[in-house]
Amino acid sequence: MTAQIIDGKKVSQHILTQLTQELQKRQTHKLRQPCLAVVLLGDDPASAVYVRNKQRACESIGIKSCQHLLPASTTEAELLRLIDAMNTDDTIDGILIQLPLPAHIDSEHVLERILPDKDVDGFHPYNLGRLVVKKPLLRPCTPKGIMTLLSYYGVNPEGKKAVVVGASNIVGRPQALELLLAKATVTICHSATRHLAEEVAGADILVVGVGIPHFIQAEWIKPGAVVIDVGINRLPDGQLCGDVDFEGARQRAGMITPVPGGVGPMTIASLMENTLKAAVLHDKADDLSVVANPL
Ligand code: NAP
Repeated sequence: MTAQIIDGKKVSQHILTQLTQELQKRQTHKLRQPCLAVVLLGDDPASAVYVRNKQRACESIGIKSCQHLLPASTTEAELLRLIDAMNTDDTIDGILIQLPLPAHIDSEHVLERILPDKDVDGFHPYNLGRLVVKKPLLRPCTPKGIMTLLSYYGVNPEGKKAVVVGASNIVGRPQALELLLAKATVTICHSATRHLAEEVAGADILVVGVGIPHFIQAEWIKPGAVVIDVGINRLPDGQLCGDVDFEGARQRAGMITPVPGGVGPMTIASLMENTLKAAVLHDKADDLSVVANPL
């Protein structure tokens, strides 16, 4: 069997086209152009590329973006002051702090300072909590993008066995919650999981976000499974690869995401969706029921 390739580039383009139309409708109705503020500390080249890609996506669909490129020596107090200012700025709908932050800054502290209704990354405990209680508001971008991919390709998780390898706050945990919400039976694996190969072998849907090149071996994968590879790893020769042995896995899986071109573009598309959603929330800010009754 050769797996069908799940084309994240194509699906993300489809989402961006839909968003462009939504944003044009807003213009017609004389509604504000949404604005995403992005903060980058330091000059890590990979982070700079991610920030540039997010800015390009904003420009391409008609979301305003403003950037704060700050030195790595910025103190936590300075960063928190900037977040406070953006929280109270009515022209800003979404705030994104590019991770990782320099070691002298407490990332959790910083992420919790962003108002939940401007937390377009979906990392604030409020937004993660909403997902836990089955009332998601701004959903973490990567897992949300993966759910969009599954839906686009007609994969309904209901009743399926889903295995998520990796349990981080930004990928594995919210991914497991998304799949649970979609009524899969979910297993979460992490660094202390015993018999990982056996767990993986039971998966109808396998999502991997570990950060180790080719970590998941092809022979572990259940024939016909849907394989979603979140990993982005740079090999010594400069090439990007995922956490799954792609060439082997595509001979067993039913569908599989490539790296690059799979999950990555979907994360950005979800960020754009969340920014528009935040703007709609802010349009309705007078309506106090809006947080209790998400869109
Ligand atoms: P992370 O915070 O380092 O988390 C890695 C997870 O993998 C942890 O839960 C860890 O377990 C688990 N793990 C480590 N070794 C393991 C092992 N031997 N067996 C099973 N599980 C193991 O990483 P992350 O931020 O979630 O990112 C994971 C990967 O996804 C990275 O390559 C990152 O670049 C990529 N990523 C891609 C996107 C995208 O848009 N495509 C977005 C975000 C991240 P413990 O919890 O026990 O430590």
